Amino acid sequence: MMHQMRAEYGADGPAAGVRLWHMVRGSETVAMCGRELDESAPLREPEDWGKTPELCCHTCGAYYLRETPYLSAEHP
Ligand SMILES: [Zn+2]
Repeated sequence: MMHQMRAEYGADGPAAGVRLWHMVRGSETVAMCGRELDESAPLREPEDWGKTPELCCHTCGAYYLRETPYLSAEHP
């Protein structure tokens, strides 16, 4: 299943920048933690999880890691 990171803006909207990064399944606009996100919010590759200057949602992180176990070593 494809995942993408999607940004949550703060109360001041896009002008104030990204407040938090969530993870969504496919092109959904509802984060894995249940948060509804702006469909125009920026997206990032899931590989960037934890590497952004902005914070990442802890709840989304837990779901994402559970759905995306590191299988590459077990499935060459
Ligand atoms: Zn989240």
